[in-house]
Amino acid sequence: MPVPPRPYSVRCLECGWKKTYAPTSDVLRPEDLPPTLCPLCRSPKLQSESKSDLVDSIRQTLKRILGDG
Ligand SMILES: [Zn+2]
Repeated sequence: MPVPPRPYSVRCLECGWKKTYAPTSDVLRPEDLPPTLCPLCRSPKLQSESKSDLVDSIRQTLKRILGDG
C-alpha cells in the first residue's frame, strides 16, 4: 500500500506568498514540487513548512478518544 506524501506549505519570506502542496499519490508530478523561486516576487527565500506532524498527532489523539480503530 503506497504511502501518500505529506502535505506541506511553502511560504515566501519576502512577500508572504504561500501555497499548500498536498500530493494525492506517491507519484510526484512537476506541479507537486515547490518552486525554487517565488512566483510573485522571484525571491529565492522560500520556506517550506510541514504541518502534517501536528495534524497527524491531532488525528491520532482524536482516534484514541473516539475509539475509532
Ligand atoms: Zn515572494
